[in-house]
Amino acid sequence: MIQVENLVNGQHIFLEESFDDISPLDSTIIAKVPRTKKIDEAVMAATEAQLQWGSLSIIERCYWLDNIANALEDKIEEIAELESLDTGKPYDIARNVDAERSINNFRFFAKFGREIRDDEFVMEDAINHIIRKPIGVVGLISPWNLPLYLLTWKIAPALLMGNTIIAKPSEITPLTAHLFGQICTDIGLPKGVINILHGYGSEVGQEIVSHPDIKAISFTGGTSTGRIVAATAAPLFKKLSLELGGKNASIILDDADLDITVPGVLRASFLNSGQICLCGSRILVHSSIAEEFLTRYLSELKDFEIGPVISEEHRNKILSYIQLAKDEGGAIIAGGNIPDKAGSWIEPTVIGGISHNSRTATEEIFGPVVTIHTFDTDDEAIEIANCTEYGLAGSVWSKERGFEIAERIDSGMVWVNTWLHRDLRVPFGGVKNSGVGREGGMWSVNFFSEVVNICVKEH
Ligand code: NDP
Repeated sequence: MIQVENLVNGQHIFLEESFDDISPLDSTIIAKVPRTKKIDEAVMAATEAQLQWGSLSIIERCYWLDNIANALEDKIEEIAELESLDTGKPYDIARNVDAERSINNFRFFAKFGREIRDDEFVMEDAINHIIRKPIGVVGLISPWNLPLYLLTWKIAPALLMGNTIIAKPSEITPLTAHLFGQICTDIGLPKGVINILHGYGSEVGQEIVSHPDIKAISFTGGTSTGRIVAATAAPLFKKLSLELGGKNASIILDDADLDITVPGVLRASFLNSGQICLCGSRILVHSSIAEEFLTRYLSELKDFEIGPVISEEHRNKILSYIQLAKDEGGAIIAGGNIPDKAGSWIEPTVIGGISHNSRTATEEIFGPVVTIHTFDTDDEAIEIANCTEYGLAGSVWSKERGFEIAERIDSGMVWVNTWLHRDLRVPFGGVKNSGVGREGGMWSVNFFSEVVNICVKEH
C-alpha cells in the first residue's frame, strides 16, 4: 500500500485524514491519499522560495529543468508502472505517451527558455524594452486522464519563468505526482519551489483558486468545474488559463485515403479509452464512402487495445450515455457492454443512426464511445462539426481539401490527415466552452510571466 504524501516546503507530509485510491484494473485499494484542507503553510513556503527562485537567471532555471528531466528519465519505468496502475492504461501507453512526454515537457521548456529573446520596439526618439517578470506563486490544477503529463506541462513553464508552485493533481490519480515530489527533493530542488497538495477538488482545489496570495491559476479539467474556477478567480483578478472539455469531430471527406484514415480515426476514437480531451468522439463520414469506412473501422477495432476507464463512477456515467443513445433512437453498432471481470472495464462502443443534434452526439462523454454521422456536402460537414458548445480540436481526412475544411471548423486545433501530432511550440487550447487562453511555447511563457514595457527616451 502506497502512502501518498504532500510536499510542503521540502518536507513530505502524510495527513491522518486520508482517503483511498482505487485501481481501475481490479477495484483494489492501492494507496492512501492525504485529504488536504489547509494550504497556508504551502503558500507561505512558496512565497518565500519565490524571492530566490525568481532572482535566478533564466539560464540557471533551464539548468534545473534539465536536471528534473534527467531525474525523471532515470525513473521512467517506475513512472510508467505507477501511471498504469493508477489509471488502468496499458503499460506501453503509460511509458511511451505519459512518461516520455512528462520528461519531454522539461526538456522542451529548458531548450525553449535558452532561446527566448526579449523584444524591442524602436521609435524615432525612444526604445521600448519588453521584459518578462515572474508572476509569483501560481496554482496548477490537473485532471486524471494524463496525470503527470498534464501537470508537468504546467510545472515546466511556470518554473522556467521564475514562479513557485502550488500543484494539485486529481484525487483519483495522485501516484506519479507523489513520485515527482520525491524526485524534486532527491535532486535538491530548493525547498518551497514546488509544493504538491493532494485532496478533493472541492476542498483543496477550491482553496488554491480562492487564495489571495496565489496570483495565477492554470486549470485543466471539465467545463463545469472550469466555470466554478473562473467564477472564483475572476473577482480576485487572477491570471487564468482554462483548458476544458471537448466533443471533437473527425471529418472524413470523399477523397480520403482510407489506408491512413481508418487507423487514424480509430486511434482518435479510443486512445486512452477515449479519455483524452482531443479524442474524436464524433465521426463524420461522406455518405459515398460510409459503408466501406465503417466495415474497415469495425474490423480494425477488434485488434485495438484499450484499458478500463478511470473508475466505477465514471463507467456508470458512460453507461448512462449509452442508454441515453438508445432512448434517443441510436443503434449500438459495436460494444456497449461490460466485460465479465473486476475493474471498471467497458467495451469500445460505436453508435449510429442518431441525430447530430442529440445529447449523445453533443455532450462530452469522455470514454470509449463514438457516434457516427454521414453527410453529403462540405457545408453539411462543417455545420455538424460546429454544432456543439465545444471547440477544442478536430481532424479532417482528405487528399486535397483538408486545409480549406479545417479553416472553417470552430475549434482551437485541427489536424489534417493525422491526429495528436504534437509540436510543443504551437498554441494548444480551445474556443467556445472548451477554454480560455492557450498553452505551449511562447503562449505558456507569456501566461506564466508578467510582460512589462519599459520605454526609454533618448536625451
Ligand atoms: P474535473 O474538472 O473534475 O477535475 C479537474 C481538476 O480540478 C482535478 O484536479 C479536480 O480535483 C479539480 N477540481 C475539482 N473541483 C474543483 C474546484 N471547485 N476548484 C478547483 N479545482 C477543482 O475534470 P476531470 O479530472 O474529471 O477530467 C476530465 C475533464 O478534463 C474532461 O472534461 C476533459 O475534457 C478535460 N480535459 C481537458 C483538457 C484540455 O487540455 N482542454 C485535457 C485533459 C482533460 P479532484 O479530481 O480531486 O476532484
